[in-house]
Amino acid sequence: MPSPQRSTGLPDVDAHRLLTRIRELAKIGADPRGGVTRAGFSAADRLGIAYVADQARGAGLEAEVDQAGNLIVRRPNADRSRPAVLMGSHLDTVVQAGPLDGAYGVLAALDVVQVLAGYQEPLRYEPVAIAFANEEGALFPCPFWGSLAVSGRLERTADDLVDRSGCSLREPLRAIGGDPDAVAAAKWRAGSIGAYLELHIEQGPALEGTGNRIGVVEGITGRTVFSVTVHGAAGHAGTVPMDYRADALTTAARVVLAVEELARSQEVCTVATVGRFQIEPDVTNVIPGVVRMTIDVRDLSPQRLRGAEEALYAALATVATDTRTRVQVEVTDRITGAVTDPGLRATIRAAADELGLPSLDLPSGAGHDAQMIAPVAPIGMIFVPSEGGVSHVPEENTSDDDLVAGARVLLRTAMRIGLDDPS
Ligand SMILES: [Zn+2]
Repeated sequence: MPSPQRSTGLPDVDAHRLLTRIRELAKIGADPRGGVTRAGFSAADRLGIAYVADQARGAGLEAEVDQAGNLIVRRPNADRSRPAVLMGSHLDTVVQAGPLDGAYGVLAALDVVQVLAGYQEPLRYEPVAIAFANEEGALFPCPFWGSLAVSGRLERTADDLVDRSGCSLREPLRAIGGDPDAVAAAKWRAGSIGAYLELHIEQGPALEGTGNRIGVVEGITGRTVFSVTVHGAAGHAGTVPMDYRADALTTAARVVLAVEELARSQEVCTVATVGRFQIEPDVTNVIPGVVRMTIDVRDLSPQRLRGAEEALYAALATVATDTRTRVQVEVTDRITGAVTDPGLRATIRAAADELGLPSLDLPSGAGHDAQMIAPVAPIGMIFVPSEGGVSHVPEENTSDDDLVAGARVLLRTAMRIGLDDPS
């Protein structure tokens, strides 16, 4: 049985170097309230990108920021005519995030490129690491900005994207090394990405719960976001009798429960969530007249997602009729899911087997840059266990052994697809 630590005769990631970089990067944007805050295109994000670029250059690699603000790391004298095995994730975070979401995948990809820079055998694909800009969209509300630019599907411009204070992305993008007037040039030409590999923490409980150490991601769930407004009639909380009311809040409460039922008892989608909720006028002695909320529905299958949308409309119509209110619904975002490449799944599984790491096939409920690259290149995703299944919080953690194991699987997968005769 192969040792879980290393396989002989082949290059290996540098565990100490990887873990040190993860700890050092986590200090950049350390939030006094706890965790890490490096919102995309913020000053902290800029420092995070500079740290990774410095580490790459210090190791003799080439690091450059493209027009959209993506950091790209190549071996010295890389053959740019050869298709890339592109590996990476993102460095930006949500507010008070953990140290691993995104950053881990970028630093592991950096280590793999660094290892392969010293590898003498010719590779069919050029290994390239990438840190996609603004995956989370915490400051500038265009998540996946960088990966959309690389796949040529970005519809926003640096001028029409503004933060909460009304500042456009133009100057922050320039400060990070991008070019607000040439963002479209960040697109990679057709066929130039031979494969995209993203290593990421699971952000859920499946691997830990089953005792597996590597997740072979089957696909990333699609997502439909709705904006719902319930129009009732505001009125005096003391004088309007119960039978005469059209209370927007009690109607909204039924909507919330109907949304939960879509996923729970009707099982028309994997998950369904009401995440935002606003009451008007939000006053103690006034019957609520208007309630606004968001609904987030997710499933791997586009057909099921469509079915869930129909089921939601039917449920909302029933609630409106029963309560004499008007329920207005609008789709505000539709993100198509992505299925990972079966060949890359098999390669990841084989790499894990070779390293003696038990693996599990599983879907991803969270969105990832890989999803945006899927229309232009075959994608593969590797997960490592998240302690307690939590992420996007300061407590987010993965054991050092699992972090190193995931990076080893990434390296072995990249080598298997890069070598003509994978060993
Ligand atoms: Zn992420």
